[in-house]
Amino acid sequence: MADEARALVAGGQLDEAIAQFDAHLELEPKDVQAWAELVRVLVTAGRTDEAVKLAEDLDPSTPLVVLAHGEALAAAGDLDESLVVLAKARDWYLHELRNNYGAEYARIGFDEASRLHDDIYARLHGREQVAVEAAREGKLDAHAGVNYRLLGDSLMVGSTHQPERLHLPSLDEQTDLHDDLSAVEQHTAAGFVLFGTILLREGLAADAREAFERATELDGTSFAAFRGLGAALELAKEHWTASANLLDEPDWRDWREFASVVPDLPNLTSTERKIVTCSIAPLRHALPALAADDAVIRIMPLDVRATDHPEFTEREAHRFEDDSRTMSALSGVAGETLALVRLDELLDIGPTDGWVFAHEFAHLAHHRLRDDVRDEIVEWFEEAVAAGYASTSYAQTNEFEFFAVQYQDYVRRRHSGGDDGTDDGIGVREGMFALIDRLARTPDAFAPAARRK
Ligand SMILES: [Zn+2]
Repeated sequence: MADEARALVAGGQLDEAIAQFDAHLELEPKDVQAWAELVRVLVTAGRTDEAVKLAEDLDPSTPLVVLAHGEALAAAGDLDESLVVLAKARDWYLHELRNNYGAEYARIGFDEASRLHDDIYARLHGREQVAVEAAREGKLDAHAGVNYRLLGDSLMVGSTHQPERLHLPSLDEQTDLHDDLSAVEQHTAAGFVLFGTILLREGLAADAREAFERATELDGTSFAAFRGLGAALELAKEHWTASANLLDEPDWRDWREFASVVPDLPNLTSTERKIVTCSIAPLRHALPALAADDAVIRIMPLDVRATDHPEFTEREAHRFEDDSRTMSALSGVAGETLALVRLDELLDIGPTDGWVFAHEFAHLAHHRLRDDVRDEIVEWFEEAVAAGYASTSYAQTNEFEFFAVQYQDYVRRRHSGGDDGTDDGIGVREGMFALIDRLARTPDAFAPAARRK
Protein backbone atom coordinates (compact mmCIF):
# COMPACT_ATOMS: atom_id res chain seq x y z
CA MET A 1 0.00 0.00 0.00
CA ALA A 2 2.90 2.33 0.76
CA ASP A 3 4.26 1.63 -2.73
CA GLU A 4 0.89 2.50 -4.27
CA ALA A 5 0.93 5.73 -2.32
CA ARG A 6 4.41 6.51 -3.66
CA ALA A 7 3.28 5.86 -7.22
CA LEU A 8 0.39 8.27 -6.69
CA VAL A 9 2.83 10.91 -5.38
CA ALA A 10 5.00 10.47 -8.47
CA GLY A 11 1.91 10.87 -10.63
CA GLY A 12 0.94 14.06 -8.83
CA GLN A 13 -2.25 12.57 -7.34
CA LEU A 14 -1.57 13.94 -3.90
CA ASP A 15 -4.98 13.63 -2.24
CA GLU A 16 -5.23 9.99 -3.32
CA ALA A 17 -1.67 9.40 -2.09
CA ILE A 18 -2.51 10.88 1.30
CA ALA A 19 -5.52 8.58 1.59
CA GLN A 20 -3.33 5.56 0.72
CA PHE A 21 -0.73 6.53 3.32
CA ASP A 22 -3.49 6.92 5.91
CA ALA A 23 -4.82 3.46 5.09
CA HIS A 24 -1.33 1.95 5.16
CA LEU A 25 -0.43 3.56 8.47
CA GLU A 26 -3.66 2.33 10.00
CA LEU A 27 -2.27 -1.20 9.49
CA GLU A 28 1.42 -0.43 9.96
CA PRO A 29 1.59 2.35 12.53
CA LYS A 30 5.30 1.67 13.15
CA ASP A 31 6.38 2.42 9.57
CA VAL A 32 8.42 5.53 10.39
CA GLN A 33 9.46 6.10 6.82
CA ALA A 34 5.84 6.19 5.66
CA TRP A 35 4.98 8.70 8.40
CA ALA A 36 7.82 10.95 7.30
CA GLU A 37 6.74 10.63 3.68
CA LEU A 38 3.18 11.51 4.61
CA VAL A 39 4.42 14.74 6.21
CA ARG A 40 6.26 15.63 3.02
CA VAL A 41 3.27 14.85 0.79
CA LEU A 42 1.10 17.08 2.96
CA VAL A 43 3.69 19.85 2.48
CA THR A 44 3.67 19.35 -1.29
CA ALA A 45 -0.13 19.39 -1.29
CA GLY A 46 -0.01 22.76 0.45
CA ARG A 47 -1.56 21.37 3.64
CA THR A 48 1.28 22.79 5.72
CA ASP A 49 -0.58 23.21 9.00
CA GLU A 50 -1.60 19.56 8.99
CA ALA A 51 1.97 18.63 8.08
CA VAL A 52 3.42 20.57 11.02
CA LYS A 53 0.87 19.16 13.44
CA LEU A 54 1.47 15.58 12.28
CA ALA A 55 5.26 16.01 12.43
CA GLU A 56 5.03 17.32 15.98
CA ASP A 57 3.02 14.26 17.02
CA LEU A 58 5.53 11.79 15.59
CA ASP A 59 8.25 10.14 17.62
CA PRO A 60 11.35 12.26 16.88
CA SER A 61 13.79 9.39 17.30
CA THR A 62 14.86 9.11 13.66
CA PRO A 63 16.53 11.81 11.55
CA LEU A 64 14.00 11.13 8.78
CA VAL A 65 11.15 12.39 10.93
CA VAL A 66 13.18 15.36 12.15
CA LEU A 67 14.04 16.31 8.57
CA ALA A 68 10.37 16.10 7.53
CA HIS A 69 9.44 18.23 10.55
CA GLY A 70 11.99 20.87 9.48
CA GLU A 71 10.59 20.89 5.95
CA ALA A 72 7.04 21.30 7.24
CA LEU A 73 8.06 24.22 9.48
CA ALA A 74 9.86 25.88 6.59
CA ALA A 75 6.84 25.46 4.33
CA ALA A 76 4.62 26.93 7.06
CA GLY A 77 6.89 29.99 7.17
CA ASP A 78 8.33 29.32 10.62
CA LEU A 79 11.90 29.84 9.38
CA ASP A 80 13.67 30.34 12.71
CA GLU A 81 12.24 27.17 14.19
CA SER A 82 12.86 25.22 10.97
CA LEU A 83 16.55 26.20 11.14
CA VAL A 84 16.86 24.69 14.60
CA VAL A 85 15.14 21.49 13.55
CA LEU A 86 17.00 21.16 10.22
CA ALA A 87 20.35 21.71 11.96
CA LYS A 88 19.43 18.87 14.30
CA ALA A 89 18.60 16.58 11.34
CA ARG A 90 21.79 17.61 9.53
CA ASP A 91 24.04 16.92 12.53
CA TRP A 92 22.32 13.62 13.14
CA TYR A 93 22.96 12.49 9.57
CA LEU A 94 26.53 13.74 9.81
CA HIS A 95 26.97 11.56 12.88
CA GLU A 96 25.51 8.57 11.02
CA LEU A 97 27.75 9.33 8.07
CA ARG A 98 30.86 9.26 10.23
CA ASN A 99 29.85 6.11 12.05
CA ASN A 100 28.60 4.14 9.06
CA TYR A 101 31.18 5.32 6.65
CA GLY A 102 29.64 6.17 3.30
CA ALA A 103 26.13 4.97 4.12
CA GLU A 104 24.00 6.08 1.20
CA TYR A 105 20.89 7.03 3.23
CA ALA A 106 23.03 9.15 5.55
CA ARG A 107 24.74 10.94 2.67
CA ILE A 108 21.41 11.70 0.99
CA GLY A 109 19.86 12.80 4.28
CA PHE A 110 22.85 14.98 5.13
CA ASP A 111 22.84 16.65 1.70
CA GLU A 112 19.11 17.24 1.86
CA ALA A 113 19.15 18.63 5.39
CA SER A 114 22.21 20.86 4.73
CA ARG A 115 20.77 22.19 1.50
CA LEU A 116 17.44 23.10 3.09
CA HIS A 117 19.13 24.54 6.15
CA ASP A 118 21.56 26.61 4.07
CA ASP A 119 18.79 27.86 1.77
CA ILE A 120 16.75 29.08 4.69
CA TYR A 121 19.77 30.53 6.45
CA ALA A 122 20.63 32.34 3.22
CA ARG A 123 17.11 33.72 2.91
CA LEU A 124 17.42 35.12 6.42
CA HIS A 125 21.02 36.28 6.42
CA GLY A 126 22.42 36.35 2.86
CA ARG A 127 24.02 33.53 0.95
CA GLU A 128 27.63 34.25 1.80
CA GLN A 129 26.98 34.14 5.55
CA VAL A 130 26.25 30.42 5.29
CA ALA A 131 29.93 29.58 5.08
CA VAL A 132 30.79 31.99 7.87
CA GLU A 133 28.34 30.19 10.11
CA ALA A 134 29.63 26.79 9.00
CA ALA A 135 33.21 27.88 9.67
CA ARG A 136 32.24 29.12 13.11
CA GLU A 137 30.68 25.78 13.91
CA GLY A 138 33.70 23.89 12.62
CA LYS A 139 31.74 22.28 9.80
CA LEU A 140 33.63 23.81 6.94
CA ASP A 141 34.92 20.46 5.78
CA ALA A 142 31.40 19.27 5.13
CA HIS A 143 31.33 20.64 1.63
CA ALA A 144 34.94 21.71 1.41
CA GLY A 145 35.49 23.59 -1.84
CA VAL A 146 32.06 25.12 -1.96
CA ASN A 147 32.46 26.59 1.49
CA TYR A 148 35.84 28.13 0.76
CA ARG A 149 34.23 29.81 -2.21
CA LEU A 150 31.39 31.07 -0.04
CA LEU A 151 33.92 32.27 2.51
CA GLY A 152 35.58 34.13 -0.36
CA ASP A 153 32.21 35.68 -1.19
CA SER A 154 31.77 36.82 2.38
CA LEU A 155 35.18 38.54 2.27
CA MET A 156 34.19 40.37 -0.93
CA VAL A 157 31.58 42.37 0.90
CA GLY A 158 33.33 45.42 2.21
CA SER A 159 36.75 44.45 0.85
CA THR A 160 38.88 47.46 -0.08
CA HIS A 161 40.85 45.50 -2.66
CA GLN A 162 41.43 47.39 -5.90
CA PRO A 163 42.07 44.99 -8.78
CA GLU A 164 44.79 45.99 -11.20
CA ARG A 165 42.97 44.49 -14.18
CA LEU A 166 39.24 44.12 -14.70
CA HIS A 167 39.54 41.85 -17.69
CA LEU A 168 41.13 38.45 -18.04
CA PRO A 169 44.70 38.48 -19.40
CA SER A 170 45.87 35.57 -21.52
CA LEU A 171 47.73 32.76 -19.78
CA ASP A 172 50.97 33.92 -21.44
CA GLU A 173 50.48 37.48 -20.20
CA GLN A 174 49.82 36.20 -16.69
CA THR A 175 52.92 34.03 -16.83
CA ASP A 176 54.99 37.06 -17.94
CA LEU A 177 53.46 39.17 -15.17
CA HIS A 178 54.44 36.54 -12.64
CA ASP A 179 57.97 36.17 -14.06
CA ASP A 180 58.41 39.94 -13.82
CA LEU A 181 57.63 39.99 -10.10
CA SER A 182 60.58 40.18 -7.74
CA ALA A 183 61.20 37.19 -5.48
CA VAL A 184 59.72 39.17 -2.60
CA GLU A 185 56.60 40.04 -4.62
CA GLN A 186 56.19 36.41 -5.68
CA HIS A 187 55.99 35.47 -2.02
CA THR A 188 53.15 37.85 -1.17
CA ALA A 189 49.50 36.82 -1.12
CA ALA A 190 48.93 38.59 -4.45
CA GLY A 191 51.94 36.78 -5.94
CA PHE A 192 50.58 33.41 -4.85
CA VAL A 193 47.09 34.26 -6.14
CA LEU A 194 48.57 35.03 -9.55
CA PHE A 195 50.64 31.84 -9.50
CA GLY A 196 47.64 29.80 -8.34
CA THR A 197 45.55 31.26 -11.14
CA ILE A 198 48.11 30.22 -13.73
CA LEU A 199 48.19 26.68 -12.33
CA LEU A 200 44.39 26.57 -12.20
CA ARG A 201 44.17 27.56 -15.85
CA GLU A 202 46.73 24.90 -16.72
CA GLY A 203 44.53 22.36 -14.94
CA LEU A 204 47.12 21.59 -12.23
CA ALA A 205 44.66 21.42 -9.34
CA ALA A 206 46.97 20.07 -6.63
CA ASP A 207 49.68 22.69 -7.28
CA ALA A 208 47.09 25.45 -7.54
CA ARG A 209 45.68 24.39 -4.19
CA GLU A 210 49.09 24.76 -2.55
CA ALA A 211 49.59 28.22 -4.01
CA PHE A 212 46.18 29.44 -2.90
CA GLU A 213 46.69 27.94 0.55
CA ARG A 214 49.88 29.97 0.90
CA ALA A 215 47.95 33.04 -0.19
CA THR A 216 45.23 32.49 2.45
CA GLU A 217 47.90 32.05 5.13
CA LEU A 218 49.58 35.30 4.14
CA ASP A 219 46.36 37.29 3.83
CA GLY A 220 43.25 35.99 5.56
CA THR A 221 41.18 38.73 3.95
CA SER A 222 42.01 37.91 0.31
CA PHE A 223 38.75 36.82 -1.28
CA ALA A 224 40.58 35.81 -4.45
CA ALA A 225 42.74 33.42 -2.43
CA PHE A 226 39.70 31.72 -0.85
CA ARG A 227 37.76 31.58 -4.12
CA GLY A 228 40.83 30.11 -5.82
CA LEU A 229 41.37 27.58 -3.04
CA GLY A 230 37.73 26.49 -3.28
CA ALA A 231 38.00 26.13 -7.04
CA ALA A 232 41.23 24.14 -6.81
CA LEU A 233 39.66 21.75 -4.27
CA GLU A 234 36.57 21.25 -6.41
CA LEU A 235 38.66 20.88 -9.52
CA ALA A 236 40.71 18.13 -7.94
CA LYS A 237 37.59 16.38 -6.71
CA GLU A 238 35.54 16.50 -9.87
CA HIS A 239 38.33 15.95 -12.38
CA TRP A 240 37.00 18.86 -14.38
CA THR A 241 40.19 19.28 -16.28
CA ALA A 242 40.12 15.77 -17.62
CA SER A 243 36.48 16.16 -18.61
CA ALA A 244 37.13 19.61 -20.09
CA ASN A 245 39.77 18.10 -22.35
CA LEU A 246 37.25 15.55 -23.50
CA LEU A 247 34.59 18.14 -24.34
CA ASP A 248 33.40 17.90 -27.87
CA GLU A 249 33.88 21.38 -29.18
CA PRO A 250 31.10 22.63 -31.44
CA ASP A 251 32.16 24.17 -34.72
CA TRP A 252 32.12 27.87 -33.90
CA ARG A 253 34.04 29.22 -36.91
CA ASP A 254 30.86 30.42 -38.61
CA TRP A 255 29.57 32.21 -35.50
CA ARG A 256 30.29 35.63 -36.93
CA GLU A 257 29.31 37.70 -33.88
CA PHE A 258 31.03 35.39 -31.40
CA ALA A 259 34.10 37.56 -30.80
CA SER A 260 32.10 40.74 -30.30
CA VAL A 261 29.77 39.13 -27.74
CA VAL A 262 32.67 37.39 -25.96
CA PRO A 263 35.44 40.03 -26.07
CA ASP A 264 37.76 37.93 -23.88
CA LEU A 265 37.85 35.16 -26.49
CA PRO A 266 41.44 35.86 -27.66
CA ASN A 267 42.70 35.51 -24.09
CA LEU A 268 41.13 32.15 -23.35
CA THR A 269 43.03 28.88 -23.17
CA SER A 270 41.72 26.15 -25.45
CA THR A 271 40.00 24.47 -22.48
CA GLU A 272 38.33 27.74 -21.47
CA ARG A 273 37.23 28.33 -25.05
CA LYS A 274 35.72 24.85 -25.20
CA ILE A 275 33.67 25.53 -22.07
CA VAL A 276 32.49 28.83 -23.57
CA THR A 277 31.54 27.36 -26.95
CA CYS A 278 29.75 24.39 -25.40
CA SER A 279 27.87 26.86 -23.16
CA ILE A 280 26.77 28.97 -26.09
CA ALA A 281 26.12 26.36 -28.80
CA PRO A 282 22.43 25.58 -28.17
CA LEU A 283 21.66 29.34 -27.99
CA ARG A 284 24.11 30.40 -30.69
CA HIS A 285 21.33 31.92 -32.80
CA ALA A 286 21.06 34.64 -30.14
CA LEU A 287 24.53 35.93 -31.09
CA PRO A 288 23.46 38.26 -33.97
CA ALA A 289 20.75 39.86 -31.82
CA LEU A 290 23.16 40.22 -28.90
CA ALA A 291 25.78 41.85 -31.12
CA ALA A 292 23.16 44.23 -32.53
CA ASP A 293 22.40 45.31 -28.95
CA ASP A 294 26.12 45.63 -28.09
CA ALA A 295 25.55 43.03 -25.39
CA VAL A 296 28.64 41.29 -24.02
CA ILE A 297 29.51 38.53 -21.57
CA ARG A 298 32.86 39.03 -19.87
CA ILE A 299 35.15 36.85 -17.79
CA MET A 300 36.57 38.38 -14.62
CA PRO A 301 39.91 37.54 -13.01
CA LEU A 302 39.71 36.00 -9.55
CA ASP A 303 40.24 39.25 -7.66
CA VAL A 304 37.48 41.25 -9.38
CA ARG A 305 33.94 41.78 -8.12
CA ALA A 306 30.96 42.61 -10.31
CA THR A 307 30.79 46.00 -8.60
CA ASP A 308 34.37 46.79 -9.62
CA HIS A 309 33.08 47.03 -13.18
CA PRO A 310 32.22 50.63 -14.02
CA GLU A 311 30.38 49.21 -17.03
CA PHE A 312 28.15 47.29 -14.74
CA THR A 313 26.86 50.32 -12.93
CA GLU A 314 26.87 52.51 -16.04
CA ARG A 315 24.84 50.13 -18.09
CA GLU A 316 21.29 49.56 -17.10
CA ALA A 317 21.89 46.31 -15.31
CA HIS A 318 19.63 44.82 -12.74
CA ARG A 319 20.07 41.93 -10.43
CA PHE A 320 17.67 39.14 -10.80
CA GLU A 321 15.20 39.29 -7.98
CA ASP A 322 15.33 37.38 -4.77
CA ASP A 323 18.91 36.40 -5.07
CA SER A 324 20.02 36.22 -1.48
CA ARG A 325 23.68 36.84 -2.27
CA THR A 326 24.55 40.49 -1.80
CA MET A 327 25.53 42.55 -4.78
CA SER A 328 29.27 42.93 -4.34
CA ALA A 329 29.63 39.24 -3.64
CA LEU A 330 27.98 38.25 -6.86
CA SER A 331 30.14 36.28 -9.17
CA GLY A 332 28.02 35.32 -12.10
CA VAL A 333 25.64 38.19 -12.77
CA ALA A 334 23.62 39.31 -15.76
CA GLY A 335 21.82 42.46 -16.77
CA GLU A 336 20.25 43.13 -20.14
CA THR A 337 23.45 43.96 -22.02
CA LEU A 338 26.26 42.84 -19.73
CA ALA A 339 26.91 39.52 -18.03
CA LEU A 340 29.93 38.76 -15.86
CA VAL A 341 31.39 35.41 -14.85
CA ARG A 342 34.46 34.98 -12.69
CA LEU A 343 37.25 32.72 -13.97
CA ASP A 344 36.85 30.12 -11.22
CA GLU A 345 33.18 29.77 -12.10
CA LEU A 346 33.90 29.47 -15.78
CA LEU A 347 36.27 26.60 -15.02
CA ASP A 348 33.69 24.79 -12.89
CA ILE A 349 32.01 22.27 -15.15
CA GLY A 350 31.34 19.84 -12.30
CA PRO A 351 28.12 17.84 -12.18
CA THR A 352 26.59 19.73 -9.24
CA ASP A 353 26.85 23.50 -9.66
CA GLY A 354 28.96 23.76 -12.79
CA TRP A 355 28.40 25.68 -16.02
CA VAL A 356 27.71 29.14 -14.58
CA PHE A 357 28.77 30.69 -17.89
CA ALA A 358 25.88 28.89 -19.61
CA HIS A 359 23.51 30.21 -16.93
CA GLU A 360 24.51 33.85 -17.38
CA PHE A 361 24.57 33.58 -21.17
CA ALA A 362 21.02 32.21 -21.03
CA HIS A 363 19.94 35.37 -19.18
CA LEU A 364 21.37 37.56 -21.95
CA ALA A 365 19.74 35.45 -24.67
CA HIS A 366 16.39 35.39 -22.85
CA HIS A 367 15.97 39.13 -23.35
CA ARG A 368 16.20 38.60 -27.13
CA LEU A 369 13.71 35.74 -27.39
CA ARG A 370 10.61 36.13 -29.51
CA ASP A 371 7.47 36.82 -27.48
CA ASP A 372 5.81 33.51 -28.37
CA VAL A 373 8.83 31.57 -27.05
CA ARG A 374 8.92 33.68 -23.90
CA ASP A 375 5.23 32.94 -23.37
CA GLU A 376 5.95 29.26 -23.72
CA ILE A 377 8.64 29.49 -21.05
CA VAL A 378 6.22 31.28 -18.74
CA GLU A 379 3.74 28.44 -19.24
CA TRP A 380 6.32 25.80 -18.33
CA PHE A 381 7.42 27.92 -15.39
CA GLU A 382 3.87 28.21 -14.07
CA GLU A 383 3.36 24.49 -14.50
CA ALA A 384 6.54 23.81 -12.56
CA VAL A 385 5.50 26.10 -9.72
CA ALA A 386 1.98 24.64 -9.59
CA ALA A 387 3.44 21.14 -9.33
CA GLY A 388 5.71 22.18 -6.44
CA TYR A 389 8.56 21.39 -8.76
CA ALA A 390 11.29 19.40 -7.09
CA SER A 391 14.06 21.50 -8.62
CA THR A 392 15.99 24.08 -6.61
CA SER A 393 13.99 26.86 -5.05
CA TYR A 394 16.24 29.23 -7.02
CA ALA A 395 14.70 28.04 -10.30
CA GLN A 396 11.29 28.97 -8.96
CA THR A 397 12.18 32.64 -8.41
CA ASN A 398 10.81 33.83 -11.75
CA GLU A 399 10.73 32.75 -15.39
CA PHE A 400 14.19 34.23 -16.01
CA GLU A 401 15.89 32.15 -13.32
CA PHE A 402 13.77 29.20 -14.36
CA PHE A 403 15.02 29.40 -17.93
CA ALA A 404 18.64 30.02 -16.94
CA VAL A 405 18.65 27.10 -14.50
CA GLN A 406 17.01 24.77 -17.04
CA TYR A 407 19.50 25.82 -19.68
CA GLN A 408 22.44 25.37 -17.31
CA ASP A 409 21.13 21.87 -16.47
CA TYR A 410 20.71 21.13 -20.16
CA VAL A 411 24.31 22.05 -20.97
CA ARG A 412 25.62 20.28 -17.88
CA ARG A 413 23.72 17.07 -18.58
CA ARG A 414 24.92 17.12 -22.14
CA HIS A 415 28.60 17.51 -21.29
CA SER A 416 29.13 16.42 -17.70
CA GLY A 417 27.37 13.07 -17.87
CA GLY A 418 24.78 11.61 -15.56
CA ASP A 419 21.27 10.72 -16.62
CA ASP A 420 19.63 12.79 -19.32
CA GLY A 421 17.73 14.66 -16.64
CA THR A 422 14.44 14.79 -18.47
CA ASP A 423 12.48 12.50 -16.19
CA ASP A 424 11.09 14.71 -13.42
CA GLY A 425 7.78 12.85 -13.38
CA ILE A 426 5.82 15.91 -14.48
CA GLY A 427 7.25 16.52 -17.94
CA VAL A 428 8.54 20.04 -17.28
CA ARG A 429 12.17 19.12 -17.73
CA GLU A 430 11.43 17.16 -20.89
CA GLY A 431 9.40 20.06 -22.29
CA MET A 432 12.08 22.63 -21.52
CA PHE A 433 14.86 20.47 -22.94
CA ALA A 434 12.80 20.00 -26.13
CA LEU A 435 12.27 23.77 -26.28
CA ILE A 436 16.04 24.34 -26.02
CA ASP A 437 16.63 21.70 -28.74
CA ARG A 438 14.25 23.67 -30.92
CA LEU A 439 16.00 26.99 -30.22
CA ALA A 440 19.22 25.38 -31.43
CA ARG A 441 17.52 24.79 -34.79
CA THR A 442 15.63 28.09 -35.06
CA PRO A 443 17.74 31.02 -36.30
CA ASP A 444 14.82 33.48 -36.14
CA ALA A 445 13.88 32.74 -32.53
CA PHE A 446 15.78 35.87 -31.44
CA ALA A 447 15.59 39.57 -32.20
CA PRO A 448 17.55 42.53 -30.83
CA ALA A 449 15.96 43.76 -27.58
CA ALA A 450 16.29 47.35 -28.83
CA ARG A 451 13.83 46.54 -31.59
CA ARG A 452 11.42 44.79 -29.29
CA LYS A 453 10.55 47.95 -27.37
ZN1 LIG B 1 20.47 33.77 -12.75
